[in-house]
Amino acid sequence: MSTTAAPMAPQAAAAPLAPQAATAAKYVYLTFDDGPHPKCTAQILAILRRYGVRATFFQIGENAARRPYLTRRADQYGHSVQNHTWSHPNLRKVRWSTFKSQVQSTDRVLRRQTGYTPRCLRPPYGATNSVVAKRAAALGKRVTLWSVDTGDWARPGTSVITRRVLTRVRSGSVVLMHDGGGNRSQTVAALPTILRTLKARGYTFYALWCS
Ligand SMILES: [Zn+2]
Repeated sequence: MSTTAAPMAPQAAAAPLAPQAATAAKYVYLTFDDGPHPKCTAQILAILRRYGVRATFFQIGENAARRPYLTRRADQYGHSVQNHTWSHPNLRKVRWSTFKSQVQSTDRVLRRQTGYTPRCLRPPYGATNSVVAKRAAALGKRVTLWSVDTGDWARPGTSVITRRVLTRVRSGSVVLMHDGGGNRSQTVAALPTILRTLKARGYTFYALWCS
């Protein structure tokens, strides 16, 4: 799977990540979709910072346009900010003109805060096929899914979210969580235990750049 390729150094924050990428025996990619959310994204950024952990935020363009300071903060804290479309449509069901405007308008909003154009595209609902992949490639994007789904969006409880990550994660896993799209207090509450435990198991945390 393309998302589990060897970690690549980002253009924007290359220096701190590159040496780790070459040496880490165990690594994991944490990803957060559907933000930025005024409360949960800020909380998640603070927790990641406390643990010195890098992650990837697949942001929705219209949310980023409303809260650009959270896009900027994610970038400033060393995270990767990537494209999750403008308004979260099923990309298998839209025409090319819609696909293109969904992706490019999001690019513009994110680029304004981060200074770079996202190269990863996470299709809403994970809805992809060969057409979606081809269209993404035509816009310079790589479709980026996940390998560990926490199901946190359904609010199964903090301990369930924690357990799903800790029992399913392997080196190279891409873990799907959400910082937006509703109340994500369970995800926020699960995060410290997840980070502490994975660190104790020897994991290094990388961001996805698709470059
Ligand atoms: Zn989503």
